[in-house]
Amino acid sequence: MDIHEYQAKELLANFGVYSPPGALAYSPEQAAYRSREIGGDRWVVKAQVHAGGRGKAGGVKLCNSDTEIQETCEELFGRKLVTHQTGPEGKGIYRVYIEGAVPIEREFYLGFVLDRTSQRVMIVASAEGGMEIEDISAKKPDSIVRATVEPAVGLQDFQCRQIAFKLGIDPALTAQMVRTLQGCYRAFREHDATMVEINPLVVTGDNRVLALDAKMTFDDNALFRHPQISELRDKSQEDARESRAADRGLSYVGLEGNIGCIVNGAGLAMATMDTIKLAGGEPANFLDIGGGATPERVAKAFRLVMSDGNVQAVLVNIFAGINRCDWVAEGVVQALQEVQVDVPVVVRLAGTNVEEGQKILAKSGLPVIRAGTLMEAAERVVSAWRKDQSENTTLRAAQ
Ligand code: ADP
Ligand code: MG
Repeated sequence: MDIHEYQAKELLANFGVYSPPGALAYSPEQAAYRSREIGGDRWVVKAQVHAGGRGKAGGVKLCNSDTEIQETCEELFGRKLVTHQTGPEGKGIYRVYIEGAVPIEREFYLGFVLDRTSQRVMIVASAEGGMEIEDISAKKPDSIVRATVEPAVGLQDFQCRQIAFKLGIDPALTAQMVRTLQGCYRAFREHDATMVEINPLVVTGDNRVLALDAKMTFDDNALFRHPQISELRDKSQEDARESRAADRGLSYVGLEGNIGCIVNGAGLAMATMDTIKLAGGEPANFLDIGGGATPERVAKAFRLVMSDGNVQAVLVNIFAGINRCDWVAEGVVQALQEVQVDVPVVVRLAGTNVEEGQKILAKSGLPVIRAGTLMEAAERVVSAWRKDQSENTTLRAAQ
């Protein structure tokens, strides 16, 4: 789960990672009013969307008066901000953060991520702040400083001093750097984060180390033990299809294609998507219904996939180990009876109780296309989709 910049800043401040004074606003009037509360004579207006690259996309603006803030906000509110991370549809701006502008002396990149290879929290830092980490690693790979944290002892101060030294930070600021790094690490660990990114972390003209941007992502599987983090969820920033799925306990990622996929297990879901592409089709989604899927759960997944207007054919691909093919088949039948499905449906079942599953499908009398292997399933769904599309076109032409 992602949270907004202002939420991450507030959270990090409790751990000694500081930012300039700022305030949140839900309307242009409130933004102007809040800038007067903050004080000073220069502010940055920052669109709160769950994506980076806002600066380049016009979502971060420097303002010199409260009228300018109000005008800037009038343009931002309600608009969709399209950055290189949002995809072409963009993300809606419903909240704006007003922050005192600070004189920047130096900018750094600072990230805490889970490194799966070393199975450790890894710190990634660079003196090339302001640039995205992908660009830094492409253009200035030598500028990247890395350190891993030994979980048994936690982040050590000497590691923080080493990072500060390698970044070429003024020795007078080392203590502030150590506090910042330790604070990020503690915030990461204590909230089960999977990422903390501060880009840029800056040294100001008056020698303060401040986080000017902050991004945090949390492990969804650990949210149950962090109710105060779950509360920060902002559905306006999520793909509507994905939030509906998350509410139903399904793991779903919406994609651009038109072949809906209902699969169990993330690995099989990926393989299914690849095979659909190989057969000449485009998957509309990634959907893992998980192990031990009951008929109700399968029906829920079906409804979810069918609620996506782009879906023109559905492929159900189940390898039942913990699952049972007969349950999946029951779920498919239940869904097809309840939900209006006017697109071709291909079902491939393998594993536990496969014969029972096939029988249920055959007995139902529903127009389900069956397939034996994954390749066969992919080819059948793509050709059924093509046939359906050309029939529809002929139908439309005849009308
Ligand atoms: P994004 O990463 O989404 O583009 P940032 O929060 O990093 O958004 O802001 C973009 C740029 O705006 C920063 O790299 C920084 O140079 C500048 N900036 C952001 N906040 C401030 C601030 N409070 N004072 C001065 N400059 C700022
Ligand atoms: Mg940034």
